[in-house]
Amino acid sequence: MTALRTTGRPAATAGSSPGRLLELIRSRDDWTRQQLLAETGLSRMTLFERLDALFRAGLVYEAGPAGPTGGRPAALIRFADQGRVVLVLDLDHHTGRIAVTDLTGRSLRERELPLDIAGPPDVVLATVCHVADGLLAAADGETLVGVGVALPGPVSPVTGLLRPATVMPGWDGFPIAAVIGARWPVPVLLENDARAHALGEAAERPGATPLLAVKYAHGIGAGLVLDGALLCGFDGAAGDIGHIRAGSGGDAPTCRCGRTGCLAAYASGYALLRRRGVTPSSSDDLAARLAATADLRDGARLLGRTLAGLVALVNPQTIVLGGALGRLSAVVDEVRTAVRADALDRLTGDLEIVPSTAHHPAAVGMAALVTGHVYAPAAVDALVAT
Ligand SMILES: [Zn+2]
Repeated sequence: MTALRTTGRPAATAGSSPGRLLELIRSRDDWTRQQLLAETGLSRMTLFERLDALFRAGLVYEAGPAGPTGGRPAALIRFADQGRVVLVLDLDHHTGRIAVTDLTGRSLRERELPLDIAGPPDVVLATVCHVADGLLAAADGETLVGVGVALPGPVSPVTGLLRPATVMPGWDGFPIAAVIGARWPVPVLLENDARAHALGEAAERPGATPLLAVKYAHGIGAGLVLDGALLCGFDGAAGDIGHIRAGSGGDAPTCRCGRTGCLAAYASGYALLRRRGVTPSSSDDLAARLAATADLRDGARLLGRTLAGLVALVNPQTIVLGGALGRLSAVVDEVRTAVRADALDRLTGDLEIVPSTAHHPAAVGMAALVTGHVYAPAAVDALVAT
């Protein structure tokens, strides 16, 4: 694995194995055999052999026929995604959003529950998994293909494991994927919540690249998606913008990472409410308590100034502001103003800075990662070979 995570885009070698052929078929849902022949350049015999292998494995089906083309109507070949579901466990500081989604990340059933991510991991996961069991049991005839877990900490792109996380002190070394995998024997993928969120936002805006998405809630994190691929960084910490230094001097606040002057120490929902001596009960509660405050506007301005620096590095087409605080109009206004004031005009002229409108972007992002993993060409080739 590399510093980028991809979600199964068709490669230049389309069709060169059954797995590659399925990757191509998954990219749209109106392929005919003739179109697949033209696209892959395979001989008729080779293509039909590979399709046969995919039919036998139950991975494609014949739908159709295609619209009138003048001759005999041709059947459509489609990815057999019906009834296949992904379980998404999206765990934030005080809220868990558990969703059963289809393979595109569309939520079929979901529940939100309060949690304390700083609590003991076995207790947190037991509660979350119990709720997930109920959601999975609520429908018959579904096949769970994988579980995606979004967490407010860095996740290594090499090991797929959570690395030491400021807000999850007790989780260091805890075998999250193994515990979940023991309950549901399917692939379990972990990802940082802000990066999963970014991948979901990118799916909502297919032409927008590079896309920088910010999750601004209890914490502050970001994700960068370039042509559909998510940047994880060398060590899994890409997007951890909450610990960019935003101030210095004797009055700079201390951050939960132990340093002073971090953006999160000034502007995160956690920091803003801590100054008021309040612990929010949920993300909605956080937004309700801060929405109309000058503190939040100050925080958003600082976030905007930090983003202006990132704009110079990345030159994004779109910045999406999400999370319980990020999508508030007061925050979007302050960030827009600060970015335009601090970044060069040629970087901001066509730059869109928009609030998130997606229902549950982290679920869309996690479903894309899980689906990309489960139906990766090598995984499909291994499956059809058995
Ligand atoms: Zn910090």
